[in-house]
Amino acid sequence: MRIRLIAASVLLTVLAGCASHPTPTPGVLAPDSAQPIVSESNNTLDATLWMQQSAEYEAVLLGSYTLARQQLDLALADPNWDAMPTGERKVPASGLSPAVIADADETLLDNSAFQARSIRAQNTDFNYAAWLSWVSERRARALPGALAFYRYAAEQGVSVYYVSNRDDPAERAATVDNLRALGFPVAEDGSNVMLRNDPRAPSRDKGERRTWISERHRVLLLLGDNLGDFVDGVATSPRARHTLVERYRPRWGRQWIMLPNPAYGSWESAILRECGERGKTDPNGCKRDALRLQ
Ligand SMILES: [Mg+2]
Repeated sequence: MRIRLIAASVLLTVLAGCASHPTPTPGVLAPDSAQPIVSESNNTLDATLWMQQSAEYEAVLLGSYTLARQQLDLALADPNWDAMPTGERKVPASGLSPAVIADADETLLDNSAFQARSIRAQNTDFNYAAWLSWVSERRARALPGALAFYRYAAEQGVSVYYVSNRDDPAERAATVDNLRALGFPVAEDGSNVMLRNDPRAPSRDKGERRTWISERHRVLLLLGDNLGDFVDGVATSPRARHTLVERYRPRWGRQWIMLPNPAYGSWESAILRECGERGKTDPNGCKRDALRLQ
């Protein structure tokens, strides 16, 4: 969910650096750059309904986690199997105990109620205080298929790491509590929950945390809803992001399981960044411009 804030910040940052950009449109760009600014309720209504109400989303998730389980079994049987992206592994995987690395939000935790509340309240801007309040409720649900998969992995002796860009320490206790209450495998000291600013690997990009884990484990699978859950360097143009996906083509559906998220993500930031670099100020206009017509 941090992505939403980042998407807004990206546009502001780009605009701030663009000497020729016109005056920000009132109501679209707020004066305080610390605050999220992109009005998105109209954009997220259908996406949120799809995630909450469609049988299709449930079916995709169940299928994805069935695939994950099959791939986990294959990975356990193959001592040479390692899911780390190129360049991130610093020590050989052989002989290390197995682990899976999963993102949290919209990978195994369902935050659509937060999105729904924002829409109902016509509270159009992503607001970090409101997000913190939602997190502190500890009421995110488990996504279909997720709980059974991570419990199965733990039963096979596989360590489960949750690598999320929720904030450490602000969101740590509530995140650990929420995961634990739902029944996800969480270490007694919560050490398998690695959030942004984790002292062991504090970078915002997740590669540093993946490397930290890979120094201790053979990594069987990566699971996420965002390209950054698999590789670093995703804050680039939409075209370059597609190139990244192509570069790792053999991984998808085998070692890397991508789950759908039509509501928010770094895909959105990429559109806004590229558009902002052209001096555009209206996020919704940017999105309309990005539509492909043939
Ligand atoms: Mg996520």
